[in-house]
Amino acid sequence: MAKQSHLHCSFCGRNRDEVKILIAGQEGHICENCVEHAQEIIAQELNLKNENSISSSNFKLSVRKPAEIKTFLDEYVIGQDYAKKVLSVAVYNHYKRITQKSYNDDVEIEKSNIIMVGETGTGKTLLAKTIARMLNVPFAIVDATVFTEAGYVGEDVESMLTRLLQNCNYDVAAAERGIVYVDEIDKIARKGDNPSITRDVSGEGVQQGLLKMLEGTEVLVPPQGGRKHPEQKMIKVDTKNILFICGGAFDGMDKVIARRVNTNAIGFNVNRDQQEMHRKNLLQFVNAQDLKSFGLIPELLGRLPVITYLNPLDIETLRNILTEPKNSLIKQYKRLFELEGIALTVTEEVLNFMVTKAMEYKLGARGLRSICESILTDAMFEMPGKGETQLEITLDYAERMFSKSKLSLLKVA
Ligand code: ADP
Repeated sequence: MAKQSHLHCSFCGRNRDEVKILIAGQEGHICENCVEHAQEIIAQELNLKNENSISSSNFKLSVRKPAEIKTFLDEYVIGQDYAKKVLSVAVYNHYKRITQKSYNDDVEIEKSNIIMVGETGTGKTLLAKTIARMLNVPFAIVDATVFTEAGYVGEDVESMLTRLLQNCNYDVAAAERGIVYVDEIDKIARKGDNPSITRDVSGEGVQQGLLKMLEGTEVLVPPQGGRKHPEQKMIKVDTKNILFICGGAFDGMDKVIARRVNTNAIGFNVNRDQQEMHRKNLLQFVNAQDLKSFGLIPELLGRLPVITYLNPLDIETLRNILTEPKNSLIKQYKRLFELEGIALTVTEEVLNFMVTKAMEYKLGARGLRSICESILTDAMFEMPGKGETQLEITLDYAERMFSKSKLSLLKVA
């Protein structure tokens, strides 16, 4: 034992107790951190060698017409027709811009970065992810809240490209036509309308940092993310053809829009019932001015020219989300049981019960999964190996399982 404590990584010098794993070689040891680091260096080096013969191995861009893009999205995302249409056109134009022949005139198609506004759990990330899957381009999801202005604790905005590079095995050429989904963009809104009183390192500073990247520039990216430090070898990435899709819930946006709609004295040019309907979903009227009032700086908005919104999920949409998408939750659970040789059936009543609970507990689409888990966990625990071939989930069973679960202890708001 005493001997063990003298063991250390021959590469970084860390002691045995400072690392999780120490792999022994003939004359030395290597720790998990150094293995990871070495792997990245290899990937980078191989990639540099391949750069001259850019074939972007696994990423052959496959662009389809806007209507085809929307049809593809329909298979995975329920409802949100308007957002799908806007996204399909924006994405199509973006990739048309990338692949266009060069004309000898001054017409230059600008980037169509997108901003999506919609309550959490309405499918923003899912839409962005599905588009990337369809186009077969590298895709990264990053959270705007982890970034801070350079020089402060947190990550530099450049590190969002690290994520993209990692997701395509450091294939720089592929990453340069990838898609980055920046979640929670609303959380970096400027706080208040007075920018200079206190330092706003995670708000306006980050927005400033994003500007150049969204527009298109060459960025030196730290291969392992985090802060740049001098001894790290940087990878140069051109963001000119990277599509940025930003999303945020923008809580309180309806009030901003209501204020504008009312003060403009435009009101609604429709009958009372329709007025009521429109008032319920004011997000559909969102425009750049509202986003500015919310605290996004005009320069950033200028680089996010396509604005769209997502509808809140109603009971019918939730019900469809359970069974309709190609990899819907129920299809996934059926597969899990099928792998055990069990045919799972879930009655219509149970599906309605799940959706009602999701609405009641305000859990949205994300909550559907926890509700399914609460109902099916016992069966998934007990049935394997029992030799049974059928499982029918009835309303009575579902209610019993749900009432036993932690979820049911939550208070309904
Ligand atoms: P957001 O990014 O808007 O917060 P997500 O896209 O992460 O929401 O959605 C959370 C989960 O809810 C998704 O993984 C998906 O399973 C489900 N979901 C949400 N909206 C939809 C939708 N419109 N169609 C299908 N599934 C959806």
